[in-house]
This record gives sequence, structure tokens and C-alpha cells, in this order.
Amino acid sequence: MSFGRSTSAKPALRHVANRYGARQQRRTTFLRTTGVLDFLYENSKSGAEITLRLGVAFCLRQFHGLITELVRGAWVRYIRQQNLAALGDAADLHEFLFGSERANLSVVRGVLREVQEDECFYCGRDLRDTSDVDHFIPWVTYPVDLGHNFVLAHRKCNGAKSGRLASEEHLSAWVERNVNHGIRMGAEFDRLGVAHSLDASVRIARWAYSRTASAGGSTWQEGNVLVPLPPEWERAFTRLASASCPTVPSAPFR
Ligand SMILES: [Zn+2]
Repeated sequence: MSFGRSTSAKPALRHVANRYGARQQRRTTFLRTTGVLDFLYENSKSGAEITLRLGVAFCLRQFHGLITELVRGAWVRYIRQQNLAALGDAADLHEFLFGSERANLSVVRGVLREVQEDECFYCGRDLRDTSDVDHFIPWVTYPVDLGHNFVLAHRKCNGAKSGRLASEEHLSAWVERNVNHGIRMGAEFDRLGVAHSLDASVRIARWAYSRTASAGGSTWQEGNVLVPLPPEWERAFTRLASASCPTVPSAPFR
């Protein structure tokens, strides 16, 4: 799905920005005073400088793209949750907060075509030139651009799915694809400069589906067909446990 700049949403966004400033200041004070960042540097509770622990600078540099995506995504989700009445789903908060540097998703088209063997991820029919790169866990649910979350689909299928979660059948196919091709896809994402973490993508998927399961929500199958999420939806993830992927804790990724 795509998001354009919405001029009608600007007053609401400015209102949110003003409200958010004070709240963010309180959060920063909380971080400064509770010492929860001890894993990054020793918190001496005094002085005007910090010294990063051994290896922290390397990791921050190495995983800069991934960390940026996750932090921005969490920030957008937080602000949207706190301002649902004012914003709804229409405003492109990501662009408002961080500028229009949204990733060019078309760079992953080649690797997705290869692992999907030129077939639409959702309907399985041959892809044509008008295919879309789709966020499997919808952008509106968790606004991050992580490589393993992308699938290639017909524009029509992508449009029909819109901001919904895909059915358990599609979820199983997504897990299967990442079990079979996840490592190779990761290497290609590195080459293309696309942020990725299969572990993080799976945690986000678990969180999104558990939220829908708790609410008794429906999922998208095809066209305008919605189906319930079965109680045993977590079985879709069992392949990951037996594969060589990292262990995935059941706690939501927040
Ligand atoms: Zn299709």
C-alpha cells in the first residue's frame, strides 16, 4: 500500500507535535534518571560525559539502519496510539516526523521475484510488470521497512489486502518462505543496503497476530473475502523452531 502526503492532515499533525513535545521531554527525563541504559554506558549519575561500553559504538554503527527503522517505527506507533481520534489512519506520520526519505522499496523487487519464482505471493498467479512490494505485516500496523517483511504481489491483490493482516494460510507461507530463503535474502538485503532482521520481523508478526487473536479480529484471504484467525494460529511459526533461525521469544516486540 502507498501513502501520499496528505495536506488535510497537517493541522492535526501540528496539534499532535505540540502535545508530543512536552510528553517526550518527560520521557527523556525518565531515561536520564532511571539508569535503564546501563547496557550502553556506565551510569555514574554525575558528570556531563558518557563513555560507551566496549563494542557499543561498533554495534550502533553496524546496525544503524535496523535500529533507526525500529525506533522510528515504535515512535510512529506510539504517537498514533496516543492520538487516534485526531489522526485516524490517514495521515502519513512517518513522513511528517522524519521527512520523505521513505525507502525505495523497488530495490528488493529482484530478490522477491526470485524467491517467489515470479508468482504473486497471495494468489500464486504469474506476476506482471505492475506488481507491488507489499508490507506483509501492514505498514499501518507496524511502520518499519525490514526486508523479510516484504512480499511481491499483484497491485490488485495488494490493494484488496490494504491495511489488513493476511490469513493464517498466508502467514504460514510467509514463515515457510523465510525459513527456506531467509538467510539468502538477508545477504542480498545487505548488498542492497536494506535494513533487515528476521528475528525482529518474526517478533513483530507474532505481536500483530496475537493482538488480532485477542480482539477476535478477522484476516484477509483474497479479494473481499475475510476469514477468522483460528485459535491455533501460532502453529504457523512452528517451522521456525525446527529451522536454523534464531529462537523467537513469545513476548511482543515493542
Ligand atoms: Zn495476486
